[in-house]
Amino acid sequence: MGFLEVRDLKVHFPIKGGVFNRTVGHIKAVDGVSLTIEEGKTYGLVGESGSGKSTTGRAIIGLENITAGKVLFEGKDITSLKSKTKDVRRDIQMIFQDPYSSLNPRKRVLDIIAEPLRNYENLTKGQERKRVQELLELVGLSPESIVKYPHEFSGGQRQRIGVARAIALKPKLIIADEPVSALDVSVQAQVLNFMQDIQKELNLTYLFISHDLGIVKHMCDELAIMYKGRYVEQGTSDDIFNNPQHIYTKRLIAAIPDINPRNRDKQYAFRQEVKKEYEQSYDDYFDNEGLAFGLKNISDTHLVALPEKG
Ligand code: ADP
Repeated sequence: MGFLEVRDLKVHFPIKGGVFNRTVGHIKAVDGVSLTIEEGKTYGLVGESGSGKSTTGRAIIGLENITAGKVLFEGKDITSLKSKTKDVRRDIQMIFQDPYSSLNPRKRVLDIIAEPLRNYENLTKGQERKRVQELLELVGLSPESIVKYPHEFSGGQRQRIGVARAIALKPKLIIADEPVSALDVSVQAQVLNFMQDIQKELNLTYLFISHDLGIVKHMCDELAIMYKGRYVEQGTSDDIFNNPQHIYTKRLIAAIPDINPRNRDKQYAFRQEVKKEYEQSYDDYFDNEGLAFGLKNISDTHLVALPEKG
């Protein structure tokens, strides 16, 4: 039993239409996703925009209704909103992509970080201030920052404030939805390193969502590649990066920029080669509707969406 276990999760959104505004169909944003994360580990969910990553994260934490499937956290069934007790809501927190829009610009840092504390704990003003200052130090910001407003910080610093707010209640699981995608490349690595540091320090478990395979490469113990609500491949970092099997995964790997300019020609040629293979073998990897097939185990840890043989 994993620390977090998601079994065959489906989140379908109704499409309304016609003069009576009736449901005329469904967007299958998430259509049969299963994952297990062990305590203290990082699981990556990767795919292009619209593949269903955010909806998966939001459904786990209770921000989207679950159409079918199960979510188990520390062995407890937390699928329904009702089962997400105050303790569970405290244990699972989310970090969002854009630290600027997720932080209220009219509030001071003290109030931003103290907000979850005020909802869950009865601290005196003095205790609250002390806790917020400790949290700021933990994320590498000066305790004097409490009187400042979000616009007085850089993007990377703002994401640190977002993290301080998310860890204020000592959660166990953090769902990080594109936490560095809005940041300059030069700042991304700093924030990722810092997220790994606090993970160790606080024994956090991460569900790390990103459209960029390059970003999760050094973060994740295991990861899954999503496409149109389904998995195309899942495995350990080693399985995915050193032994990718699905043509879609191969294409994403080829798209990771090589920072060495001397490899530019080589990388361009490799990309062209993978693109050609993708076009030629598309029907072997996607069904008539252009969706991924069911997953097959090719080793204990490695699953690939492949058609039934026959
Ligand atoms: P990702 O995080 O991979 O970019 P999302 O989970 O945001 O993907 O979206 C998956 C699909 O579900 C997209 O087609 C998106 O337009 C659709 N979708 C997301 N939220 C809603 C909603 N509230 N109502 C209808 N469709 C939605």
